[in-house]
Amino acid sequence: TGSKRCLIAGNWKMNGLLQEARDFIAAFGSNPAPESVEIALMPPFTLLHPMSAQLAEMQIELGAQNVYYEDKGAFTGSICPLMLRDAGCHYVILGHSERRSIIGESNAQIRSKLNASWLHGLEPILCIGETLEQRERGITNMVLAEQLAVLKGAPKNAPLTIAYEPVWAIGTGVTATKEQVTETHAFVHEELTRLGHDCRVLYGGSVNPGNAEELLSCPGVEGALVGGASLKADSFMQIVKAAI
Ligand code: PEP
Repeated sequence: TGSKRCLIAGNWKMNGLLQEARDFIAAFGSNPAPESVEIALMPPFTLLHPMSAQLAEMQIELGAQNVYYEDKGAFTGSICPLMLRDAGCHYVILGHSERRSIIGESNAQIRSKLNASWLHGLEPILCIGETLEQRERGITNMVLAEQLAVLKGAPKNAPLTIAYEPVWAIGTGVTATKEQVTETHAFVHEELTRLGHDCRVLYGGSVNPGNAEELLSCPGVEGALVGGASLKADSFMQIVKAAI
């Protein structure tokens, strides 16, 4: 995992009611947080305030799954960066493949969200990844470079984490092979260096207690973004332990 502190981040997606959040905290809370691994949780917006204080006590960072790029006003249904800060968020996931494909979020919108996040002191976790069709056509690196191009002209010291998530591995139970992960992370780090960003790169896509250790051991992998397996306290904790 190299010199940067490893991050295990749990993306709950559109899952989680208040009682489930309480159960998760009760079950997870009995484990002392390891020094060497940073833990973060991204519950849905409705659970940010209710989970904030207890997660802080447990030294788990809080994050949101999306943000809007305007500061305030007539944007019905949207949540702005200051609201996330107010709820205790450090992180915000941007450009998740589900938002790109289902909501139709564009790189231009993601760029606006990056700027708005930095302006208000949030650390974006920028998700990038190719579809199966793109990998098979051999254009993976081109797609990733295009998605990373939103960082052109961004402040060099802006807080940032990247999550490489091959779309075909998200929620499918299929993970990229060690070779694919190593090769692609090397390309992503190269591209980031070219753009002037020396930031952490997480892997995401069907990470679970059974494969976490192997995936986290790949060179250039500095943590994981975990979807499905972050919903249960015990499986999420096992993934954290695999990162120690
Ligand atoms: C994700 O939501 O970013 C993700 C990787 O999901 P899963 O772990 O369920 O594949």
